[in-house]
Amino acid sequence: MLSISQARKIILNNTGETPAVTVDLMSAAGACLAKDIYSSLPIPLFDNSAMDGYAVRAGDLKGASQKNPIRLKIVEEIPAGYIPRKRVKRGEASLIMTGAMFPAGADTVVVVEATKREGKTVKIFCQAGKGENIRKKGEVIRGGERLLKAGALIRPPEAALLATVNKKTISVHRRPRVSLLSTGSEVVPLGRRLGPGQIVDSNRYGVMMQLKACGADVIDLGIVRDDRVAIKRKLVKGLRRADAIITIGGVSVGQWDFVKEIVEKLGRLIFWKVRMKPGGPLTFGKIKDRLYFGLPGNPVSALVVFEQMVRPALLKLSGRRDHLKPVFSAVLEKDYHGQAGKVRLERIFLRYKNDKYFARPVRSLGSGDLRSMTAANGLMIVPEHISRLRRGQKVTAQFL
Ligand code: AMP
Ligand code: MG
Repeated sequence: MLSISQARKIILNNTGETPAVTVDLMSAAGACLAKDIYSSLPIPLFDNSAMDGYAVRAGDLKGASQKNPIRLKIVEEIPAGYIPRKRVKRGEASLIMTGAMFPAGADTVVVVEATKREGKTVKIFCQAGKGENIRKKGEVIRGGERLLKAGALIRPPEAALLATVNKKTISVHRRPRVSLLSTGSEVVPLGRRLGPGQIVDSNRYGVMMQLKACGADVIDLGIVRDDRVAIKRKLVKGLRRADAIITIGGVSVGQWDFVKEIVEKLGRLIFWKVRMKPGGPLTFGKIKDRLYFGLPGNPVSALVVFEQMVRPALLKLSGRRDHLKPVFSAVLEKDYHGQAGKVRLERIFLRYKNDKYFARPVRSLGSGDLRSMTAANGLMIVPEHISRLRRGQKVTAQFL
């Protein structure tokens, strides 16, 4: 049986990237660049003032101080968006606003707070160094320079940067499309009156939100009863437009757990079962180039396996280069006892205090206890060989 890290490696090695599509910058939030982006423009586009003040010649201000201000003649007022017409000559100044084009002749900007205007002249109360408060053309980005690398995630700063150099459309990896199928003859859609022995397809709501949170588009295949022909028909349908297919339930050792055998017929079963708890019966394969994930039906298992195994693959499909959530160490707040032999992902509540994270295990009645999941904000990763941990010990944790 595979360890978590072996299983994850196999999954990621089998995962490619979705094709590139051209999208409007406005709708690219959360997408990843499919190509490097070069800037055709320098940033700043032109020399401009970084402050509201006066564009002057530093040489004119030698010896200027609070007690000994130097008076200059104002020759022009330069608001942002205006093209200066006057050259600043010796003994002269131009009033200039932040972002306005810097005038010829001047070589520095004195901030308005260090000046006092008197009619057509201004008194300056300090000296200035050449180049101060000027944003030089191309100092942030030279024209032709690479702005962002392929794989870069479009977050707010990337979007704003691309807009700065006037990129209206960009090439990103298409959002992954994922077919989602719930299995089980006992499982019925939300909102129906429940008959004897029936349960609501609750996992769909958790997994659907997880899919959305990693930027996937969901193809809803609904619910299928535990029937070979029906399952096969749904899986074949689910292949049509999808990059990946996820089934929920039907991958354990029960007599009516048919999903694995059908995946094997339609494609290739790559592994079944991982040495982890919850989520041991995770199944992974490929059907006609599409990724296949069989999530266990137990609600906590489904959510945890998705985060650990499916999410990294979907991020990779989307072009992301970082696939895994960070882990860090936390101080255990209660003694822990569990069964060695598998990595355990225990639900915990993490809080930060006195420069440390503290992890308090959440009370749980097993992998059907969804309420324990709602009380948790993280997981503690307990190594295979460990059965006991003492309060105060350091443990490995991550946020959910
Ligand atoms: P299975 O993996 O099919 O053996 O199911 C394990 C447990 O999870 C059983 O108690 C199922 O009734 C339950 N289960 C399976 N699918 C779902 C679902 N979509 N929503 C909620 N519970 C489910
Ligand atoms: Mg089932």
